[in-house]
Amino acid sequence: MTEQWFAGQTAIVTGAAGGIGRACGRLFAERGGTVIAGDIADCSSLIDDVADTPGTVHAIETDVRKPADLERLVDCAIEHGGPDILVNNAGIVARKPITELSPERWHDVIETNLTGAYNAIKAATPPLCATGGTIVTVSSLLSHIGYSDRVAYSASKGGLDAMKRSLAAELGPEGVRVNAVNPGFIRTEMTQPHLEDGNGDAFRAKTAIDRLGEPEDVAELVAFLASDRAAFISGETILIDGGQAARG
Ligand code: NAD
Repeated sequence: MTEQWFAGQTAIVTGAAGGIGRACGRLFAERGGTVIAGDIADCSSLIDDVADTPGTVHAIETDVRKPADLERLVDCAIEHGGPDILVNNAGIVARKPITELSPERWHDVIETNLTGAYNAIKAATPPLCATGGTIVTVSSLLSHIGYSDRVAYSASKGGLDAMKRSLAAELGPEGVRVNAVNPGFIRTEMTQPHLEDGNGDAFRAKTAIDRLGEPEDVAELVAFLASDRAAFISGETILIDGGQAARG
């Protein structure tokens, strides 16, 4: 039987309708957790997806750019005895060279990826301090390496990595660990345009292990960092990129 790492625990997952968020929600439920799933899109199908697991999902429409939405999500987690875990996963990408990147699009990416995480962390920190919980943020390989046409996205993810270090220092004494996972190319809706353009093989060839990442790969790392098995890990950034950065 799958080990029930999260039995009796409540995990908030933002962006839970998408590839990585859905895989995280599913894995937390498989390991016995209660999942408070938030997304600007409808994520209620996750409730049926976990029907065969010991866990449960509560789906709440949430725009991470709106602080009141995050407060609602956190309130729901409190009603279920949590939150014990916050996964900041909601994100968008802009594929534009700097000369074509409009101020509106720049702000949209920063508001969603960086301010959205701030909104969630601000709302969840008091109850996380009460439960001795943990925060895992889904950042990106692109906070480590340069990539054309991703200026706003890279800036937002670099901001998340820096924010995580300061939060780890600030919240450690409260018993709250803060970490980030930094995926390379993962096969989701976000990367679908590259696959449709026939670039899947090129992205696969960048990795050391000659395959694309799957949402479940990332969910395993998120779950590990969120679990007591990672009790001495905080302020850390862990690349999950099939060895792409190691190859240079
Ligand atoms: P995805 O597009 O499948 O999922 C992203 C989810 O975020 C979607 O369900 C979307 O509706 C939601 N979202 C967007 N704006 C929102 C908002 N304002 N409020 C609430 N939810 C919102 O893509 P994914 O690949 O699963 O992305 C998940 C996270 O992983 C993102 O932060 C992304 O930057 C990061 N990431 C992805 C990859 C990759 O290769 N797929 C690589 C590195 C990092």
